[in-house]
This record gives sequence, C-alpha cells and structure tokens, in this order.
Amino acid sequence: MIYPKEFGINPLYPQAVDFERIYKDTLSGSGIITKRYFAQGDLMAMVAGEEVSEILQHTLQIAPDRHLYDPYFSGYFLHSCSPNISLDMARRTVTALCDIEPGSFLYMDYAETEDVLFKQFPCSCGSSSCRLWITGRKEGDSVAHAVAQGDSTGLVATVSRLTGES
Ligand SMILES: [Zn+2]
Repeated sequence: MIYPKEFGINPLYPQAVDFERIYKDTLSGSGIITKRYFAQGDLMAMVAGEEVSEILQHTLQIAPDRHLYDPYFSGYFLHSCSPNISLDMARRTVTALCDIEPGSFLYMDYAETEDVLFKQFPCSCGSSSCRLWITGRKEGDSVAHAVAQGDSTGLVATVSRLTGES
C-alpha cells in the first residue's frame, strides 16, 4: 500500500509493488517511478487524498477552489512538457499516454490540471516542445513571450521578478 489504510481499500489505488517514490536530482527532487510496464492508454491508478481549499506543494487541482492533497503519490509526479501520463481529476485517474517501461519516472504536464502553480519554475525537460518556464494554465506566460521575441534582457528581468531575485 502506498496510501495509508484510512483511505480505504480500492484495487485501483497505487500499490507499492507497482510504484515507488525515489529521489531524482537536486533540480527535480523526488518523483514517482513505475516498477512495471504500462501500455499506451492503460488506466494506471486512481489517486486519492485530502480535499483542501488552498494550493500546496503536493496538491493537484480538482476545481478552481478545490485541491487534492496527496503527499504519497500524485503530489510527487514530475513535470514534462512531453508527459507520459495524463490525469483526469474529475475521475481521479492516471492514464498512460505512451508505452512506459519499468524504471521510468512518471511525468505529467502541470498545466493539464493547474490553473495556478504553487510555484512557477524553469523547465529543463529537454522536449522539443518545452515551454521553458512553467506556469498554470491561467497564469501569464511572460517568459515564453520574451523568449519568442528573442528578448534576453526582458527574459532575465522577468525571471528575476518571478523568482524574487534581484
Ligand atoms: Zn519542458
């Protein structure tokens, strides 16, 4: 069991035999890996947690004013601009977007579920479609705009402002 037993028994909840939280690197922190193979389109797991009204580091948005606090599983999914999993927060399901080999980290696109992020961050996912600066889907994309304009001065100023560095 990955979830505490108070969450109840659901055969679709993630099992420790199938998933594990492991440390990736200083930039990303910890993530979730799969220990088994999933094929594209597979329903991988159902997520659970406490419903809270504020955005926390390990919440995923259910509705504009409701968030699922899951510090056991989904709260540790890493971000990629080319994700290998998709979350449906209405159904609380995790689906494989492609074939996923054992040992792979699970990557979602945070903008799939979040209007506003707990914290915006620079992305180094390496995808050819990387957005470089990750925001919620309703937040301004000022850095991407600066990059698109080739405005390095504006980029530095925007990153400094967003990260609170001077
Ligand atoms: Zn990226």
